[in-house]
Amino acid sequence: MTTLPDLLSPPERLLWIHGCRRPEHIDLEGIACDRGARVVYRRLDGCAARLLTDGEQAIISIQASDSKGRQRFSLAHELAHWINDVRRGFSCFGDDIGPQNAEAASVEAAANEFSSQLILPDYMVAPWMRGRHVSLGLAVEMSAAFRTSVTAAAIKLARRAASGACLVCHSTQGRRWFVRSSTWPRGLYPRMRLHPDTAAFHLAVKGAGSMSNARSSPGAHWLSGAGFPAMTVESQSMRLPDGAVLTMLAQPVAARAPTPRRHGECAIGAWAASPWPSHAPAR
Ligand SMILES: [Zn+2]
Repeated sequence: MTTLPDLLSPPERLLWIHGCRRPEHIDLEGIACDRGARVVYRRLDGCAARLLTDGEQAIISIQASDSKGRQRFSLAHELAHWINDVRRGFSCFGDDIGPQNAEAASVEAAANEFSSQLILPDYMVAPWMRGRHVSLGLAVEMSAAFRTSVTAAAIKLARRAASGACLVCHSTQGRRWFVRSSTWPRGLYPRMRLHPDTAAFHLAVKGAGSMSNARSSPGAHWLSGAGFPAMTVESQSMRLPDGAVLTMLAQPVAARAPTPRRHGECAIGAWAASPWPSHAPAR
């Protein structure tokens, strides 16, 4: 008979065998110690984290000046190298380490994917998200519960959103990166440049405030590709410490799937006319 641990990814299974059942149970330093790696926080020149090893034991150094959430992701990333990458030493630079870099096929991307599951394991995130509407406000809550950066939490939320969601990061120079849920329409992309009538534009250019309220916006302000002129989208933006702006785009309330119908109820209604596809929820 299949049990939950059999269905887990390798990083999730690692947490499970260490007894992690709730976010506060995730003790990355304890797991590192159990795996023969000592963790130190110190000033590093030119990199976010470093793994030194003789093949049997390791010292993982973490940039002391980084935020706590960033340090946690860096530690999980180096643990991934220590466990998976033939126990080589690594110096991982700032741009290498980040949850937004988890999709390319490389050793660094694989370490980021492993790290994302160590700090935000699906088997804890799924019940935590259930019944909650995806927004940056929710990402702030999740980052506090799981002790991650808001960016890492927002990426997890966007990827797992049951209704369409897309997280995009812009600077004043243009779009840096975006991630989206499997339920987001394939032909729609966030615009390369911020529209001047968006809160994100004001946050990026004027540095005003730190987070906007979630609001309904014309699709043309945010999206390019098939179907956008007829669509509105919910948007919420926040300014990051480096001046970039993160925006969560979500399927507007009117277009979301209704709660399941009881037997015999009519299927024709707002959802049937929605421009958004009705994919199954992401795992
Ligand atoms: Zn690395």
